[in-house]
Formats: sequence, C-alpha cells, structure tokens
Amino acid sequence: MASESTSTAEGTASQGDELPETALETARHQLNQAASIIDVDPNIVERLNYPAAVHEVTIPLERDDGTVEMYQGYRAQHDSVRGPYKGGLRYHPEVSREECIGLAMWMTWKCAVMDIPFGGAKGGIVVDPKDLSDDETERLTRRFANEIRNIIGPMTDIPAPDMGTGAQTMAWIMDAYSVQEAETTPGVVTGKPPVIGGSKGREEAPGRSVAIISREALEYYDYPLDEATVAVQGFGSVGANAARLLDDWGASVVAVSDVNGAAYDPDGLDTRAIPFHDEEPEAVTKYADETVSNEAILELDVDLLVPAAVGNVVTEDNVDDIQADLIVEGANGPTTFAADSILDERGVHVIPDILANAGGVTVSYFEWLQDINRRAWSRERVNEELETEMLAAWNAVRREVEAHDASWRDGAYIVALSRIADAHESRGLWP
Ligand code: GLU
Repeated sequence: MASESTSTAEGTASQGDELPETALETARHQLNQAASIIDVDPNIVERLNYPAAVHEVTIPLERDDGTVEMYQGYRAQHDSVRGPYKGGLRYHPEVSREECIGLAMWMTWKCAVMDIPFGGAKGGIVVDPKDLSDDETERLTRRFANEIRNIIGPMTDIPAPDMGTGAQTMAWIMDAYSVQEAETTPGVVTGKPPVIGGSKGREEAPGRSVAIISREALEYYDYPLDEATVAVQGFGSVGANAARLLDDWGASVVAVSDVNGAAYDPDGLDTRAIPFHDEEPEAVTKYADETVSNEAILELDVDLLVPAAVGNVVTEDNVDDIQADLIVEGANGPTTFAADSILDERGVHVIPDILANAGGVTVSYFEWLQDINRRAWSRERVNEELETEMLAAWNAVRREVEAHDASWRDGAYIVALSRIADAHESRGLWP
C-alpha cells in the first residue's frame, strides 16, 4: 500500500520522545504572539483559539484472526470562514484530540497564508499502521470513512493524506463515501491516485514547496545556492523530494536521515541514489559510509537545516546545540514555542511550516478544482502554478517581516490572521 508513513507534513515515523509541548499549546502561543503585533479584534482572536467542532468516533475493526478491536478516531474542524474545512488524516499511536485541534489550527493559517479558499481541519486514528495488514487497514479506513461521512464532503470538509496515510487511504475513503452517496465524488478527498481524480505532482508538492522556500530564503540571506550546505531530517516524501530538488538545483545536501539515523557526507550526498521511504523503507543509513544519529543531524554545522520528520524535534533541550543559520520547517510543528524564541534571539531564521510545506495543501486545492471541473492538469501546469503561488506567499510574508521587523513565523501569522480576521469581520457573528 502506498503510505506516507515516514515523514513530514504528509507522513512521519514516531521517535517516541515525550512531547515538551502539545501541538495545541504551541499553536495557541503562536496565534496570540502574532495577534499582539498587529491590530486585530481580540474577539476574533478569542474565537480562533478554539475549534468549531471536534468529532470523536469509535471504530470497530475485525482483525484478520476474527477478533474485534476498537479504535479511536477524530476529526477536528477549526475554522471555515474562508471556505470548506481542509486537512489531513493521520494514522499514528500518538494521535489525540488535542493534537488534532492544534494541527487543524495550523491548517487554517496555512490555507490563509496561501490565500486558498479553505479553512482548517485535521483528524486521524490512534493506531500504528505498521501493526495492521493491508486488508485490516482497508477495513479500518472504510469504517472510519463511514463514521465521519456526515461531516465530510467536497463543499464541507475535505481530508487528505498525513502521517501514516497516503494515496491508497484516500482512494478507500473516496470509494466508501461515493458508494454511500450513490454518486462518484472525487472532490471529497485530495491526495488520491491520479487515475481516480488525484492531481499529478500532489505527492511531491510539499517537498517541492520546501525546496522553493529554501531556495528563496537562502537567496534572501545571500547564501549562493550552489555553495549552500543542507541537512534534511526525514526522508519520506517531504524530506526526500525537498533534498533531491535542492541537490538538483546545486546545493550540497550533506546529510539526510530516517528513523535509523542519518547518511552523512561532508562533500555532499547523491540524494537520488538514496531510496526514500516508499522505495525502500528505513534504508537511508545503508547508503553512506558515514552515519550520524537522528539527533546529531539537527546539530550539524550547515547553512540550512530542514526538519522534515516529526513534530517537536527542536526543543529547549537541544536548541543551544543547533548550529544551522537557517531552518526551513518541512514537518508540521518541528520547533517548540520556547525553542523558537531562543532561535529568534540568536538570529537564526526559522521559516515556518505553514509557509514552507504548504505546497501539499496548495496542490490539494488544484486537485479539488480539477475534480470539480472534471478536467486534469498536466504536471507542468501543476508545478508552474505551485511555483507562482509559493512565490506570492513568500513575498506577502516577506513584506510583513520587513514592515514589522518580525520573525518569519510572525510574518506568516500576520498574513494569515489579517485575511482570516477580515473574513470574520465581513461575515460577522451570527446570531
Ligand atoms: N497533510 C498535509 C498538511 O499538513 C496536507 C493537507 C491537505 O492537503 O489538505 O499540510
């Protein structure tokens, strides 16, 4: 089964560490910090601190041996003032109600930074997909799709892949939904296989946007791309695609890692020769003479660090050992709020997840348009339009960074929050 189970905004592998901050705490801190910089109605900020709804379901699964096990599933819907709820579904043992709410909030900002007409949602099932056979995963997914059928839909809430889920998961959800509705409904999910309405280029899109934003950030801070050294934590679709594109564009990618550790070569790796998770899971360390640990990769003396594995990897515990000059977040929430403030004081520029990995949801939007219009786009068109959208968002954020002498995270939040607050203001609060 095509799963995005090792990395990033799309998929990821557990590192099993205790979380220093919940995603919800980090998301709320970030929101309130950005709100303190600009003139925004505090009543709107108050509303944005809470999700509109959190749906919780219990899913019975008949295991292959005939026993029945119960699983917990969630769908948090944060805000839909700008359009239908949008965001991934995560299959991971650490999925929780709180985590879904925090990640749903990040989706709201991400869609607004990109100026795409969606709100934010996130959901998932508390399960380690490695413990299930493909048949069990299919039964669990179809039953979950049925349990959340009334709250998803192409005009209401549109799921997509995230950690531990992928194109096949989306195909099963699309099928289960379509069978129940008695109508083939490709627009109910994005990240599907292209043969049933998925978009070309969707799979590589988060990694491509990370590479585009890395390129822009390096240029902005006067690091010539062909002299820049890069370390990428996580070699799932996000990390691998980002590393390979930066390598293609001339950067020296000196280290890439998966759950087992990092392949390291100070002269630069051949990233196309290293299989990413879907090609050969967890094999990165077999492809280099020198290896370093997954923690040590974060502390390498490189120009650019791309944490593209799991959340909460740059924390108060290791922030003083981070030597990179620039961090571009491939994963959702890799930097805790406390670590972020310390990096900011030290002058390390952190380009936030809600901008850097937003290529995923942006091509999800292209996919949704293609589904509604029943007309597929070429890969060239997808990549061209993605490039245009990423540059527009980068420039909108850059203007706020310069105008407020703000961090890149605050700049991105200012862009997002202004658009969301304007929308709330014009729609008003009813009743
Ligand atoms: N799961 C991805 C993210 O965190 C994509 C969401 C989507 O395409 O809706 O950005």
